[in-house]
Parts: sequence; structure tokens; C-alpha cells
Amino acid sequence: MARITLDKLAHSYKPDPQGPQDYALREVDHVWRQGGAYALLGPSGCGKTTLLNIISGLVVPTRGRILFDDKDVTQLPTEARNIAQVFQFPVVYDTMTVRENLAFPLKNRGVPKAQIEPRVAEIAGLLDLTSALDRKASRLGADAKQKISLGRGLVRPDVAAILFDEPLTVIDPHLKWQLRSMLKELHRKLDLTMIYVTHDQTEALTFADTVVVMHDGGVVQTGTPEELFQHPAHTFVGHFIGSPGMNVLPCKVEGARASLAGQEIALARHYPALAGKVELGIRPEYATLAPRGAGLPVRIARIDDIGRARIARVELDGLKLAASVPEGASFDGDQAMLALQSGQIHIYSDGHLVKGQALPGGQP
Ligand code: ADP
Ligand code: MG
Repeated sequence: MARITLDKLAHSYKPDPQGPQDYALREVDHVWRQGGAYALLGPSGCGKTTLLNIISGLVVPTRGRILFDDKDVTQLPTEARNIAQVFQFPVVYDTMTVRENLAFPLKNRGVPKAQIEPRVAEIAGLLDLTSALDRKASRLGADAKQKISLGRGLVRPDVAAILFDEPLTVIDPHLKWQLRSMLKELHRKLDLTMIYVTHDQTEALTFADTVVVMHDGGVVQTGTPEELFQHPAHTFVGHFIGSPGMNVLPCKVEGARASLAGQEIALARHYPALAGKVELGIRPEYATLAPRGAGLPVRIARIDDIGRARIARVELDGLKLAASVPEGASFDGDQAMLALQSGQIHIYSDGHLVKGQALPGGQP
């Protein structure tokens, strides 16, 4: 078991990288705490698998170091790193039984037979594979094969970390839910570092205590699901997390006032003069639609019932945004008023959150 430190890690698959555009992974600095349940979340192609493969030793980074506790393992092969990795698609030995597959990582490391049997039985029980233990892996379906892969990752009690690379991709939706709960429970039982890669925010937010969000080869924010939701450090995080995601709208900011589509809005914080592209972020949950009253005049394009709430798609002088429709609210025509909770407005400069200063007497 170990704390894993990524120190100025960068990787290019090109032999002679020229600029940032040639890097699959731009500079990443991160510490994975021993025993943490992490999700590595980001869209396809942002560098998640590259990062995972560098941690496990399948890929040697172009620059930077990886430390397990204080030991530099950057040049060590996978076998010397004590890492278990579960891939997107099943990795099983078809000619072996389920039992032999699960026992393999232990047998391979010379664990005594008397210890292998109970451990295999335990993991098979967790994965609901007990009745299949003596069947040949080749006779099983994709779901069961991926469960064997998970089991092979989980079976070694001595690993520094278990890395899961979108392991539930091939699993049917119902079983997905079950396996995710199982992984979470297992994390609670064993004091193991788990890094779970996914492009699916629901998977990330339900599995992890800490979510590391990646975008375009870099880490843009690390935080609890709550922090990512309430304080997106980057417009990408605001937009990527939440359904629908945060509204990100071009604006002008002067002191504690913003001008949005020609309308003035009072902000809860005071901002310095901002350079670059200035944007205002507000989650649909904090932008509320009313038939009349104070706020910004908008046109309703449509209202969707998404189960737990109703979300309106509205237009503010050509700007499109999503807003919440309070229970019981009804609208005659397509005109309505939009109220933004000033304490929930975030201001961004070139994509990055600008903190600003609390106004005297305002919320911190
Ligand atoms: P993710 O897992 O987030 O989808 P990857 O780490 O697989 O992202 O890929 C990051 C970038 O690196 C992508 O642009 C991808 O095309 C590129 N890439 C990944 N693997 C290789 C490889 N073996 N050779 C060259 N380019 C690669
Ligand atoms: Mg990948």
C-alpha cells in the first residue's frame, strides 16, 4: 500500500514532440492518498488511460516522476510495482476455470495454497461467481468474464492500488449498478487505494470520495462531488458535471456588477479588472423561472420534465440557458422572468474561476 505521487508528469506518444499539441498528457502534478476512493473523470481522448498506464508501468512517461511513498518507480516495470489493473475489456484465460483464473495472480506470486483457496472463495462470493467457480471461462458471457477480470484485480490483498479503466463498459446497466456498489463496499472494507476511470459523471460521483477531472491532457480540478458541483474551478468542470451542466455565458464585469445580454446583474462579490474572455457561470438549479416579477426577461423555448425537476430551455436576448421551473409554476405564453441567485454566480476569466472579494456584510 502506498501514497502515489505524480511529479510534473507529461507524456507524448510522438518521438520528437514539438509543442503542447503533441502531448497526450500535459504537465500533471497530483498525490493519490493511501486508501482513497478516486474517480478519474473526463471525456474520451483526454488522457485518462495514458495516465493510468503510466501509474501501472505499461507506459514510461516522456517527462516527470512517479513515486510510491518516497520511492521513485518511474523506470520500474509493471511486475515490480505491485499494482492491479482492470481494463475496459475482459482479460481472462479462456482455457482455465473461473477458480484457476481468480487464483492465478496469487499463484504467480507464490502465495501458499492454503491462503489462496479462502481468498478465491471470498472474492467469488463478493462477485456472485461462486456457482461458476468450476466452469471454464470460455463458456461464460461478457458480463461474467468481466467479473472474473475484476476478481483478478481484487484478489491480491497486498497491492499498492487497484486501477480500473472504464471496467463496466461491457456490463449491462442493471449489473453495472450492482458491481459499482460492490466496489464501493469493498473499498470500505479493505484499506485500498482505488482509482476508477470513467467518462460517466454518475459513475464517478457515486463511486468516489474524490473526483479528479481531466480535460485535454491536464487535470482541471480535484475535489469532492459537492465541491465540483458548488465551486467549479473551470468552466469545463461546470459544464461537464451536472445534468444539464452549468450555464456559461459571455458577460462583462465591473466591480460587483455584471452585464449580461445588455442587462445589469448585482454580484455577491467584487472583482478586479479582468483580462481575456470573461464568462458568468450559473447552474440551472440556481436560475429560477417565474411567470412575472423581478429578474431578466426571457423567452421559453421548451420545458422538459426530467423526473426530479422541470428544466426550461430559455433565451435571453439570443443567449441560450437552462433554468429550473418551480413546482406548480405555469406560464401563459412564452415570456417569463429569470432570477439568478447572486451567491451562486461564478465569474471566469479564460475558463478559470476568479474568486473575487466578498462584499462587506455579504456571504464569505
Ligand atoms: P482516454 O483514455 O481519456 O480516452 P487516452 O489516454 O487513451 O485517452 O488518449 C489520449 C490521447 O493520446 C488521444 O489523443 C489518443 O489518440 C492518444 N493516444 C492514446 N494511445 C496512443 C498510442 N498508443 N499511440 C499514439 N497515440 C495514442
Ligand atoms: Mg481510455
